[in-house]
Amino acid sequence: MLFRDATLADGRVRDVRIEGESIAAVGTDLDATDESIDADGKLLLPGMIDAHVHFREPGFSHKETWTTGSKSAAAGGVTTVFDQPNTDPPTIDAESYNRKAELAAASLVEYAINGGVTDEWNPDELLAKPLGALGEVFLADSTGEMGIETDLFEDAIKRARDAGIPVTVHAEDATLFDESVRDRTDADAWSAYRTAEAEMRAIEHACGVAERLGSTVHIAHTSTPEGVDIAADAGMTCEVSPHHLFLSRDDLDELGTFGRMNPPLRSEDRRVGMFRRLVEGDIDIVATDHAPHTLEEKDASIWDTPSGVPGVETALPLLLEQARRGTISYERVRNVTATNVADIFGLESKGRIEEGFDADLVLVDPDASTDIRGTQLHSKCDWTPFEGRRGVFPELTTVRGMVVFCGGSFADHSGRNVRVWG
Ligand SMILES: [Zn+2]
Repeated sequence: MLFRDATLADGRVRDVRIEGESIAAVGTDLDATDESIDADGKLLLPGMIDAHVHFREPGFSHKETWTTGSKSAAAGGVTTVFDQPNTDPPTIDAESYNRKAELAAASLVEYAINGGVTDEWNPDELLAKPLGALGEVFLADSTGEMGIETDLFEDAIKRARDAGIPVTVHAEDATLFDESVRDRTDADAWSAYRTAEAEMRAIEHACGVAERLGSTVHIAHTSTPEGVDIAADAGMTCEVSPHHLFLSRDDLDELGTFGRMNPPLRSEDRRVGMFRRLVEGDIDIVATDHAPHTLEEKDASIWDTPSGVPGVETALPLLLEQARRGTISYERVRNVTATNVADIFGLESKGRIEEGFDADLVLVDPDASTDIRGTQLHSKCDWTPFEGRRGVFPELTTVRGMVVFCGGSFADHSGRNVRVWG
C-alpha cells in the first residue's frame, strides 16, 4: 500500500509505503505498489496511542465491549489502547488477566492490559504477565475499592521498576474532599466536593514517594494546572483527558450528571491553564479516560450517577479541530497523542512515521470539520459530553498495515497485545 503525497505533521509532503505490517519507506516519488491511495492535501499521522481506557470487559459488557470500544477507537484514529484494571473481576492476578486477555482478543486495535494494585493482588502472578503498566493505582481513596496505602504503593513502584513497566497513578486524596457540600443536589456539587486541593496534594505525595525511591510515576488525568506543575517540577510525566481540556464547570448546567467524572471538571480558568500547558509542553500526553456508562445509568442524582464519560473516538478529532484553528500545532498533536506515549510506555515500534515502524496510521482531511454527534459514534453508550462541538474525524485508519476503518465501515481484523508480541 502506498500513500501518495501525504502531508506529515511537520509539514513535509511524502510518499509512505507499507509492506506487510510495517512502514517500508518514507520518501518522494516512491514506486507505486498494488494499492495506491491519493493523499494529496491530506494529513497522515501515526495512530493515537490511548494510554487510558476502560473497555469494561469482563463484568460490565452492557456499558462497552472490546468490539464496540475498539471500533470507537479505530473510528477516532486510535490504534492502540491501554485497558485499566477496574473490571469485574479486577485484573489483579493470573486468572483475571487471562480472562481479560481472552476477551481483548476481539479488539480491532492494538492493546495492552494494565495490572491493578490492591490489597488482594498477586504481584508475582500478575508481573509474570506482559502488562502495559501497573495502575491506574488509586492512592488511599476511601471511596473506591481499589485505594491503597503508602507501603503497598512503594512495593508496587519497586516491582514495576524491576519489571521495566510504568506505574500510573490516579491522584486524588479523599481525605481532602469537602464533605460540607454533601447536601447540594446540583451537578457542580461534584466539582465542589472533589477539590482541586485533593488532587494537588495527592500528586505531591505520589511524586514524593517515587522520588524517595529514585523511581518515577506517571500521573493519570491531571485536571489542575497546579498539579501539572508539581509533577513537571518533580520530573514525572503526566497526562490530560479531553474533558479537562475542552469542558469546565461552566458546562455543568448543560451537562448535568453526564458531566460527572473523576477527577471532576474544574473552573474555566483552570481549563485554559491546562490547554496552555498542553501546548507549551508541561503536559506530556493526552489520554482519554474513556469510561462509558449507559444513558440510564447516568440519568441519576449527582451523588448516585457513576463517574466517567466516553472519549476514545473524539479525542484526536477535537485536537485536530484545534490544530485547524491554529491554537496548537499538528506536530504537538502528534507528539501528545502518539510519539510521547510510545516513549513513556516503551512501545518501541509505534508512534512515528518512519521506516521500520508499525504501519498504525491515520489519514485525515484537515479541513473536514464536522459536528460531533453521540448517536453517530461507535461506543455502546451512544452519548458524548462533546455533543455539538466540532471535530476533524479520520477518513481511514490502519493497524499494522491493515485498513481497519474506512469511510464508516470496519474490517475484520484482530489487534494484538503489544506486550505479548511487541
Ligand atoms: Zn482514574
